[in-house]
Amino acid sequence: MLTERLVARAGEAGVYLMRAENPGPMTLSGTNSYLVVDRGEVWVVDPGPADIRHIHALAAAVRRLGEPAGVALTHDHGDHSEGVEPLREELGEPPLLRFGALLVDSPLTAVHTPGHAADHLVFTLGDVLFSGDLILGGSSTIVPPGGGTLIAYLESLRVVEALEPRLILPGHGEPIEDAANAVARQLEHRAAREAGLLAALSDGLREREVLLDRVWADVPPALRLAAHVTMQSHLEKLDLEGRLVEDFEPEGRRHWGHLSADTG
Ligand SMILES: [Zn+2]
Repeated sequence: MLTERLVARAGEAGVYLMRAENPGPMTLSGTNSYLVVDRGEVWVVDPGPADIRHIHALAAAVRRLGEPAGVALTHDHGDHSEGVEPLREELGEPPLLRFGALLVDSPLTAVHTPGHAADHLVFTLGDVLFSGDLILGGSSTIVPPGGGTLIAYLESLRVVEALEPRLILPGHGEPIEDAANAVARQLEHRAAREAGLLAALSDGLREREVLLDRVWADVPPALRLAAHVTMQSHLEKLDLEGRLVEDFEPEGRRHWGHLSADTG
C-alpha cells in the first residue's frame, strides 16, 4: 500500500496507515507503519522492513503531511525495525523513540509491555493505542519462551487493559475498534489454551506433537511451528508456577531460544 489511509483522529492529531508489502503467516497482510500528524509535525511508528519502496513511500508521505519530527519503534524485530535507519537517513535523522531511548520529546507516550519481545513498547496518543505485536488485528501473537515471557505478556495485556484505549492500531492486521473486548479476548484465549494444556497433561498426554494436536488443533499448518513455540511458553509458565506435572521435563530455552528472534 503505497499511499496513506486515515485510520484515527486523537484531538488535533491524525493517524495514517501505510502497510508494507511483506505478507506472511507471521506478518499477516504485512507490517503496519503509521504516520502521526500533530500540528504539522509527523512521527512514524514502525518503519517496517528494509523495503526501499516502502521507505520511499513513507518519506514522501511524511513530507506531504508536514515536517519530519521523529521515528518510534515498538520492538526490534526486523519486520518493524529494519527500515528505521534507512528512513531516518531519508528524513534528516530525526529523533528515535525506542526501548532504551525513551527520553525523547514526542506526542506519543511509551509504555513498556514485554512478552512478545523483551524490548516491546506500546504507544498511546490520547485514547488511541499503538499495540505493535502485543495485540494483532485478527490473530493471536507469538510469545517466545525464555525467562517467564508468557507471565510478562499477560501482565502487559493487563497494563493495556488498564489504559482503556478506545482504538487499537496493531502492528499487523486491521485497526481494532472494540479495544476493551479485544484485550479481554486475548486474556481469555491464553487462559483457554492453558486450561486445555492442563487437561491434556492430566489425561496422561506427554508427546509434544500429541499435545499440539489436542490443544492447538485449530492452528493451520503454516503456524504449527509458532504453536510449538507458544506451547513451550505455556509449559515454562506452568513450570515456573509449580503447576507442571512432575514427569514432564520442560525443555529449556536452550532448545527453543533460537526461534525467539524475528518471528513476527
Ligand atoms: Zn511484527
